[in-house]
Amino acid sequence: MSTEPTPAPDADTRRDADTRPGAGAETELTVRADLLEPGRRVRNWGRGEAARPTAIARPRTVDEVRATVLAARERGLEVKAIGAGHSFTPTALTDGVLVDISAIDGVLAVDAARGRVTLGAGTNLYQLPELLAPHGLALQNMGDIDRQTIAGATSTGTHGTGLAFGGLATQITALALVTAAGEVLRISERENAELLPAARVAIGALGILVELELQCVPAFLLRAVERAEPFEVVDEFRERSLAHDHFEAYWWPHTALLSTKTNTRLPAEEPYVPLGRLSGWLEDELLGNAAHALVSGLGWIAPPVTPPLNRLAAKLYGNREFTAPSYEVFTSPRRVRFREMEYAIPAEALPSAIREVRELVERKGWRISFPVELRMAAADENWLSTAHGRESAYVAVHRYWREDPSEYFTAVEAIMRAHDGRPHWGKIHTRTAADLAPAYPRFGDFLAVRDALDPDRVFANAYTRRVLGE
Ligand SMILES: Cc1cc2nc3c(=O)[nH]c(=O)nc-3n(C[C@H](O)[C@H](O)[C@H](O)COP(=O)(O)OP(=O)(O)OC[C@H]3O[C@@H](n4cnc5c(N)ncnc54)[C@H](O)[C@@H]3O)c2cc1C
Repeated sequence: MSTEPTPAPDADTRRDADTRPGAGAETELTVRADLLEPGRRVRNWGRGEAARPTAIARPRTVDEVRATVLAARERGLEVKAIGAGHSFTPTALTDGVLVDISAIDGVLAVDAARGRVTLGAGTNLYQLPELLAPHGLALQNMGDIDRQTIAGATSTGTHGTGLAFGGLATQITALALVTAAGEVLRISERENAELLPAARVAIGALGILVELELQCVPAFLLRAVERAEPFEVVDEFRERSLAHDHFEAYWWPHTALLSTKTNTRLPAEEPYVPLGRLSGWLEDELLGNAAHALVSGLGWIAPPVTPPLNRLAAKLYGNREFTAPSYEVFTSPRRVRFREMEYAIPAEALPSAIREVRELVERKGWRISFPVELRMAAADENWLSTAHGRESAYVAVHRYWREDPSEYFTAVEAIMRAHDGRPHWGKIHTRTAADLAPAYPRFGDFLAVRDALDPDRVFANAYTRRVLGE
């Protein structure tokens, strides 16, 4: 909780609706208690974090977001926006006012000439194929799932794979956020442009995002090739990532096998044979989810069965080729609940880091049913991006949600730290502001922007206090 008393705004003050120069309109803004419903217990997708906020607000308009912030301040409560609750860290949780902006969604504007789309910040990624189809557009790259909101995904630096592509936040060309003063701050390549690299990945610490403009690309297909390959492919990971648009791999613990995925971008007009609902269902639901639920559940009950099951899974999973619209290839349903830690390390460190993880698992005799996911992304300029200023490899470790991940994750975290690793803001880690600051050259600049926009720490929570400091 913020210890500084916050000034209580008058109930019926008139405030500028907009900080845009020349935007003279004023809006009647009342601090409305009815925006705040009594809180109930909320928990994240991974079931590892929970909170009971004092109140939950569900604003439907930007003015209601502003009123919510002012109402919370008046009561001396912290404010936190939540997206889809898919972070494994408690980054979206608060015991103050939780702001669910899911009603602020959809396409707000389209700049057809530049392929840019302005979205309500609460838009879920799974809504985008339908929303963007009439404009012939798509997201440039995506991660593994589409359940997140666009604000939540970009705020934690969510990424996919591909050395020519940055994380989702690199595609933000403009945004609007409600600040601690209850004002709308617009940041774009033309207005307050110096704040863009701070605001694109801000883990909710600068304000509540209400609009995001994204640079999209013409809709495209992906040709996917999935294979079971030897572990040694890790040594050529960067070369493969340079040679192909999107390369990633899953190493199955207790095996010498990698499931590799190589996706190639094709024009949307390219003829292709659709995968078919039955085989898509067989792969994604039966193999990807039902079989995985069985393997994870069995491994949890009887750990010794994990190595042979992993060997079987590695062979069963990857051996197919198909072409489909980009979003269908990038993402798939994840119905087996798990906990995850992911670190970004310099791209060239991947082979040695993953070998150390393999040696660790063998030495400790753990039984790990989930594969270790390996990806790469381009360097970017966003100050808190895990790929800030360096081409990055991502190493992600998982555990079934009923298993205690701490021993495995702590040991892997030590390896990643030794490789100059930066933890994903939305995935489990133990780092603190003191040891994150040296990992991010612009960390101090980000804190200065936070001091300017939120001096009273209205948007703080336990997580920002840990990773950004008080
Ligand atoms: C099954 C699964 C698969 C995943 N796959 C990937 C992957 O492939 N790649 C990857 O990088 N990550 C992945 N993640 C992590 C996930 O993308 C991030 O944790 C993401 O932040 C979750 O988005 P969300 O909408 O649920 O946001 P939340 O978890 O609800 O919130 C995340 C952060 O965003 C802030 N926030 C949300 N809305 C706003 C707003 N309107 N204004 C300001 N701040 C806001 C919150 O306060 C919080 O700090 C995965 C997670 C799961 C559970």
